[in-house]
Amino acid sequence: MTPGDRFGYLVILRESSRAANGSRRYVCLCACGRETTQRRHDLRAGNVVSCGCIGRLGRIASLNARNIRAAHERKQQQRGIDADSLGVLYSIARAA
Ligand SMILES: [Zn+2]
Repeated sequence: MTPGDRFGYLVILRESSRAANGSRRYVCLCACGRETTQRRHDLRAGNVVSCGCIGRLGRIASLNARNIRAAHERKQQQRGIDADSLGVLYSIARAA
């Protein structure tokens, strides 16, 4: 796993400190613009696909791209995320 790898709506930014049990963890950027730290195992297994803003895997299947984009636009407005980074994140969401 290297920076730039994508897991659902998460993109790996860098490796984080290891968990207490020694498992590797990674700092990820979510499509909503939030950073989140997740365990390698959970990413690879598909247990986590976002920072939690999208919901669990079962819900993602029911969300179409338009709904995801609308949800992210709302979050952008709430958080003041700039348009450039949002454009990058849209391309991630579209590819998902
Ligand atoms: Zn998120």
